[in-house]
Amino acid sequence: MYPIYFLPLHPFSIAINLDSRRKQDVQYPMVHAMSTDKKSQRYQASCHCQSIRYTVTLAPPLHDPDSWVVECNCSICARNGHLNVYVQSACIQFDGADLSSSLVEKYRFGKGRVQHYFCSRCGSSLMAESVEPGFYDGVKALNVRMFQGVDVRTLQRREVDGRSL
Ligand SMILES: [Zn+2]
Repeated sequence: MYPIYFLPLHPFSIAINLDSRRKQDVQYPMVHAMSTDKKSQRYQASCHCQSIRYTVTLAPPLHDPDSWVVECNCSICARNGHLNVYVQSACIQFDGADLSSSLVEKYRFGKGRVQHYFCSRCGSSLMAESVEPGFYDGVKALNVRMFQGVDVRTLQRREVDGRSL
């Protein structure tokens, strides 16, 4: 049994399969939780300039048949090419500077419920999270493009229609 649960509402956008034949199907991205399950994998991640480094534990691993990354068409994901996985914050361990560091730039737009984090030095898009209490506390959307040694072309993707929200 994987330590997966499904969100009744996506923290940042409701996942809707863009395939017109299945337009009515709403798909909920999994949120990875910390687990002692053997079927987990640790990933090293960092921004381009290595100012922000962290380790992420994902169960199941990214290449598990049950795993996928989210490609969203909202205004910020489309610009920056984010490919996201959703994790509980406990899955992330920072090595040195963390999100409270002055090296990390914060950005909100629209309703301002979600904060995006960037490296102020190299501009890499690191992750995002809800900043509204009671609204998906403790969940972060990680941009897997920051993960080292992961060929994103080999990952299963699901498109979500964040733009229409
Ligand atoms: Zn950087």
